[in-house]
Amino acid sequence: MQGVGFRPFVYRLASGMGLDGWVSNSGSGVVLEVQGPAGSLGAFARRLIAEAPPSARPEIAGITDIPAEGRSGFEIRASSGGSLEAVILPDLATCPDCLCEILDPGDRRYLYPFTNCTNCGPRFTIVRSLPYDRRNTTMAAFEMCEACRREYEDPGDRRFHAQPNACPACGPRLELLDPSGRSLGTGHPALLEAAESIRRGRILAMKGLGGFHLMADARNPEAIAELRRRKSRPSKPLALMVQDTGAALGACMLSEGERAILESPEAPILLLRRRTDIPEASALPRILAPGNPCLGLMLPHSPHQHLLMRELGFPVVATSGNLSEETVCTDEGEALRRLAGIADLFLVHNRPIARHADDSVVMVLDDGELVLRRSRGYAPLPVRVRPVPEPVLALGGHLKNTVALSTGDQAFLSQHIGDMDTAESVQTFRGVVSGLCEMYGSRPAIVARDLHPDYATTAMAGDYGADVLAVQHHHAHILSCMAENGLEGPVLGVALDGSGYGPDGTIWGGEFLAVDGEGTYRRIAHLRQFRLPGGGKAVEEPRRSAAGVLFEMGDYPASVAGRYPGSFSIGEAEAISDMISRSVNSPLTSSCGRLFDAVASMAGLCQVSDFEGQAAMGLEFAMEGIGGNGCFEILFDPSSTPAVLDWVPLVRAVITALGSGMPIREISLRFHNGLVEGIVGVAKHAGIRDVALSGGCFQNRYLLSRAMLRLRAEGFDPHRHRRIPPNDGGISLGQAVAAGFAVRAGRN
Ligand code: ZN
Ligand code: ZN
Ligand code: FE
Repeated sequence: MQGVGFRPFVYRLASGMGLDGWVSNSGSGVVLEVQGPAGSLGAFARRLIAEAPPSARPEIAGITDIPAEGRSGFEIRASSGGSLEAVILPDLATCPDCLCEILDPGDRRYLYPFTNCTNCGPRFTIVRSLPYDRRNTTMAAFEMCEACRREYEDPGDRRFHAQPNACPACGPRLELLDPSGRSLGTGHPALLEAAESIRRGRILAMKGLGGFHLMADARNPEAIAELRRRKSRPSKPLALMVQDTGAALGACMLSEGERAILESPEAPILLLRRRTDIPEASALPRILAPGNPCLGLMLPHSPHQHLLMRELGFPVVATSGNLSEETVCTDEGEALRRLAGIADLFLVHNRPIARHADDSVVMVLDDGELVLRRSRGYAPLPVRVRPVPEPVLALGGHLKNTVALSTGDQAFLSQHIGDMDTAESVQTFRGVVSGLCEMYGSRPAIVARDLHPDYATTAMAGDYGADVLAVQHHHAHILSCMAENGLEGPVLGVALDGSGYGPDGTIWGGEFLAVDGEGTYRRIAHLRQFRLPGGGKAVEEPRRSAAGVLFEMGDYPASVAGRYPGSFSIGEAEAISDMISRSVNSPLTSSCGRLFDAVASMAGLCQVSDFEGQAAMGLEFAMEGIGGNGCFEILFDPSSTPAVLDWVPLVRAVITALGSGMPIREISLRFHNGLVEGIVGVAKHAGIRDVALSGGCFQNRYLLSRAMLRLRAEGFDPHRHRRIPPNDGGISLGQAVAAGFAVRAGRN
């Protein structure tokens, strides 16, 4: 709990209650000795939990009575060392106390954009090396003034040992730059001018905690269209920043659970349903997230964002300062270069960012959170795993990549890196790996990578001078879900996913894997295979998946002519059919993601997509607002090994329903429900009580909720992801778990 102000909190609580003793960090947590009347000690223990800083979330591990030693006063003792010292905390959003100060004209930090305390502010993004001490942060160059130093050294102060402590007299400051890098002003006037430019419809690049945001007036369709054009991002949803919860309620519906996460110190982008009771004319423009019933909303998480949002008083687009899916920009020079032609102005500051951290993305299901992108506020918090005798490094997958380092019984999962297609991402990846190794692990004994021969991470696995272990993609998905839920096995892993390389050379993605207590898997069943004409190209063109699916059903190309609007012409279909029958660049796949693509294409929802998951999302959103148990049948065929979950009758029913004019929303519902019944069927066949759901398809809110519900109803114990993404952002954790098994086996 280092860096959350827990020890100063204990100090203030004990002193305030007139109790004597001490508090100290140890390898196993915080230890304290408190002396006083029995009644006060009970009250102290209660208040210790009830009033602790929200980010500390303490639990009392044990209480021992010891003879009184005649102490007087309460002190914070020097740390006794231990592994906990090495845990770096994520950045925390500005706390209410700091926010009050920057809005109070009488306070010395009035309007100061770098205000923080032990309860809030940057951590991970300013640490250069351990221990977490000012001289090892990007605040090292700023000498604390007399007043700041007094706060920093006073155990009774909220800023006791707040490493980034600063004020207008001694800390960093804002500066506004034009695209050529020329300064247009500093301090609060720079912020006001930046706000004015957003008001006038311009695009602002703003340096935040872990990287740059691109910002524009979210009410202004022209500004958004221009941002989309400049960023080459035609339709992928754009995240918004709103001033406060009240403003969020103006645009979206918020449950109690959602409100808690929106306002949490992690301050992620939260996917919230748009309000349906506002007239279209006064609602935020559709172009923010076309065809999407949700908006991604976040609150300001740093003082300068609070100040900007208060100045504006309306929602802004706040999307990552990058191009496509590469890593976010973190320094001024880089931003001026990479965001040239996108941003009109740059609001920067002179506190360097040591490590990037994108905004995390979270959704809330009925029973709690699901992190879809794990970065600022969450990374690099560890996940508890079975102990490894030597450090293990896992390189992750290819898309939405993260890396993981296991040491002892902790697996540290890195922040989101991005897709590994660009030189920038590869460079960031290398930096993240060396950063993690320096901080926590020294030299890894084993490096885990994906089984795919062509991933960028596969080529780099040999660079670390350690043994390399290749881990099958869906095996890693399931191991990550097991680790997050503390499952030892046996488990039925259901990995419904886009694609992952299978050991048989085909593309897997609709997999049912039985995982035992040694972490090894057996492929019990998979979705029926079909061919993907064009291979990788099919990911961007759902109509290719449709062609492959129809071909497998014996319907292609005869069934196509004029039937699926926007899809291939009959001539193109014939060429594709020829390609498939000659097995030219048409790999076999059992991918569930591609099956969704195929159905979305047939339903006319999406033929060519411009971001990953667009077609599947279209199919999910098509049934917004309806429910029920209506279901198209799927066929489970246990006669072969592995068994086959045959979607042919399911898709046949979809085609028939399309032909008979059934509404798309009803077709989508029945397709989803049919697929879930397929999962239940395989679970019954496998006869394993614990079922782990993972893979990118489980970002689909309906599919995940329905699968949990139906499996529970049939007597199974279904488990899902919460703080680890079900998509490929969670792959590195699963790889680290697999490598842990390998290292332990090697030791025996
Ligand atoms: Zn604070
Ligand atoms: Zn100062
Ligand atoms: Fe995957």
